[in-house]
Amino acid sequence: MWRETTKHERNLRIWEEELDDFVPAKVLDFHVHLFNGATIPPDCEAYSCAGHPIRSYDLDALSQDLAELYPERDVSAVVFGLPHVEYNLPVNNAYVGDVCDKKRFFPLRLFDPVIDTPESLDADLASGRFLGIKPYLNYVRKPDLNEVQIPEMLPDWAMELVDARGLLVMLHIPRKERLADPLNQKQLVDLCRAYPRARIVLAHVGRAYFLKNVRGTLDNLLELPNLYYDLAMVSNPEVLEYVFRVAPRERILYATDLPIAVAPGKSVEINNQYTYVTPVPWTLSISDDHGKLVFTSFLYEELRGIRKAVERCGLGSDFVDAVFYDNGRRLLDAVR
Ligand SMILES: [Zn+2]
Repeated sequence: MWRETTKHERNLRIWEEELDDFVPAKVLDFHVHLFNGATIPPDCEAYSCAGHPIRSYDLDALSQDLAELYPERDVSAVVFGLPHVEYNLPVNNAYVGDVCDKKRFFPLRLFDPVIDTPESLDADLASGRFLGIKPYLNYVRKPDLNEVQIPEMLPDWAMELVDARGLLVMLHIPRKERLADPLNQKQLVDLCRAYPRARIVLAHVGRAYFLKNVRGTLDNLLELPNLYYDLAMVSNPEVLEYVFRVAPRERILYATDLPIAVAPGKSVEINNQYTYVTPVPWTLSISDDHGKLVFTSFLYEELRGIRKAVERCGLGSDFVDAVFYDNGRRLLDAVR
């Protein structure tokens, strides 16, 4: 079994020795992907979960992982589909909307600017089933993903519908330079200012997984009161420390990117870049072909990183409680 949870003795030991006295009683994970078996067409390849092919990640699988990753914790999550041009977006959205109770699981709607229409998006948002949208760079369908721009992922007609209802946008920013890209920065500022009632969540802190990408760049976004920072897949203690020192503390959100995060692996910084390292081959990683390392989950590595950064910053349990639960809960309450 590739899923790295406390069902493996080695992970249980990490939980007991390093995490149990740190992770608060209540956890709200702001970034989780959920998809049922009908989402991936039969002729499509399975989804590579950090090198482990899966054809679904449904609510039962998520509930089981949450129970096994965080023993004796009360865990809830913000949930959305798997953004992939080849996958069935209406099926995935319908599934997420149906299974999320908005008490423990809070749904966002995948948004595709090419196949969605103002009518289809408006109908779904008006129904009150979704708390916001999840756009993605691939949906723009440019041959070079590095050429994608934020307004192409989020055309005005969609943002007007989101803004009118004060809903969430889970934004994974495009472009090679990520958070450090000047055009991204300008377009992020423009987006937050043009749609002040929308709540924009910067997924993965703008995909800034290495220090140089976040240092001096996050600083340009601090005056935007409707911009939030999700920590999904960020395990680098230096990046986290920078975020905790610089970003508005009431807008930092714990998040993981499950199901990827339950897979074995870690992101590492090398020479002002980053890569994932995984035990098995994966397109986004360098893999441990020699079998030199014993891995734990990306998620536990992230928790270790958060703990280290909290300690380096001298932050207390009030900060930890806020990041793991209160900040996200306040945001959801404001949206509902
Ligand atoms: Zn994600």
